[in-house]
Amino acid sequence: MLTIASNLDLIQQQRSFFATGKTKDIEFRITQLKTLKAAIETHESEILEALQQDLNKPSFEAIAAELTLCIEEINYSLKQIKKWAKPKKAKTLITQFPASGRIMAEPLGVVLIISPWNYPFQLGIAPLIGAIAAGNCAILKPSELAPHTSSIIAKILGNSFPSEYIAVVEGDKEITQDLLQHKFDHIFFTGGTKIGKIIMEAAAQYLTPVTLELGGKSPCIVTPDTHLEYTARRIVWGKFINAGQTCIAPDYLLVHPSIKQPLIEAMVEQIKAFYGENPAASSDYARIISAGHFQRLTGLIEPEKVIYGGESEPETRYIAPTLLDGVTWEDEVMADEIFGPILPILEYESLENAIAQINQRPKPLALYLFTTNKKTEQQVLTQTSSGGVCINDTIMHIASPQMPFGGVGDSGMGAYHGKATFDTFSHYKSVLTRSFLFDLKLRYPPYEGKLKYI
Ligand code: NAD
Repeated sequence: MLTIASNLDLIQQQRSFFATGKTKDIEFRITQLKTLKAAIETHESEILEALQQDLNKPSFEAIAAELTLCIEEINYSLKQIKKWAKPKKAKTLITQFPASGRIMAEPLGVVLIISPWNYPFQLGIAPLIGAIAAGNCAILKPSELAPHTSSIIAKILGNSFPSEYIAVVEGDKEITQDLLQHKFDHIFFTGGTKIGKIIMEAAAQYLTPVTLELGGKSPCIVTPDTHLEYTARRIVWGKFINAGQTCIAPDYLLVHPSIKQPLIEAMVEQIKAFYGENPAASSDYARIISAGHFQRLTGLIEPEKVIYGGESEPETRYIAPTLLDGVTWEDEVMADEIFGPILPILEYESLENAIAQINQRPKPLALYLFTTNKKTEQQVLTQTSSGGVCINDTIMHIASPQMPFGGVGDSGMGAYHGKATFDTFSHYKSVLTRSFLFDLKLRYPPYEGKLKYI
């Protein structure tokens, strides 16, 4: 394990490597992205095995939500990188004439990426892809709560890149705090809001810019004019994938009373269709990451409010897909992001009332709305604020490299995926080049009589 002194050495080695200018070469970056892609593909089975050991993550979910997302990000970056990196022409003013303007993307330098345990591969590698594409050196600190994935990431990156270019530092919060004592050119953090504040405070001492990909309670509004079967299926999928340990999982439902009972019945039917009568025996259902989180989650289940599920098993850290009814905002389950397979069902009287319930709380990372009514859609979109929105589905808005993903307010700052990741790790430098052809004297003193010309 690295100590404070060796973290500093590593950062200095990366600074020296960055100073050689090698990472600024576009062909170099393309080669590194291809190397990363090949390494992921070569180690696919080991990555799947690690995710299985850490989270009992089903291979299908690991391939779809972790590996494929990274490969798509690399493919898209390889296709676009030359366009992204090319200086863009900018118009100049008559007062600057004769001159030309351009905007150049330059890498920031040495960046730190700190990732969580819930999608432990993808949430470390996806930002790294943008850091490489933009021409930076990077240190990645994966989550210690997913040790098998952390270890395979360290192995893959260690075999693929010299540490003075890309390095993995494994360890817990003490190691992270060691790293945070040093100066970086950007810190990209994915994790909880509480730790996000610690990261931002540490970054402030060096004025280091931060991207904070945080969490929050993402609401899901279900209106009466929705397609009941598809709605139930899409909510159940988004809530219970990875056993609810997804930053953009629908945290709670806000349902119109007229559709509540049929929706509950349809959701129960879908849970059974996905995971069978006994989800503990399903190979398609993940487990809770740690004993601590297991305890926290089981403490949120009030037995008298359980209308489906509620069972748990400490030895295997299994918690059944659980539906809670009769929940109020005063209940503990509504205090913080749940981040587990527990779905509280609340009601709303009118759309205004649903919007008010959302707006009284911190801005969420995602907002879900199920409706076929365009006016309803427009009202919710214009009267609420959230990191992203997905209408008539859950989670799926995260998948496109063409759509920036990030939070707002308490759910984070900055965004990534596709070009947004490249932008995150770039500085856009405006360059004005003046000509020596002639020199208008209007702006120079003495100013007398010149005011009328400006
Ligand atoms: P976390 O904040 O506990 O940990 C994230 C990282 O921070 C880990 O690498 C950890 O080692 C480090 N860390 C923990 N405590 C620290 C401390 N005191 N000082 C310095 N570093 C510290 O988050 P988590 O439990 O790993 O993940 C769950 C949270 O992450 C949820 O809130 C979830 O919504 C959020 N999340 C957000 C996104 C997103 O894209 N916005 C994605 C996944 C998870």
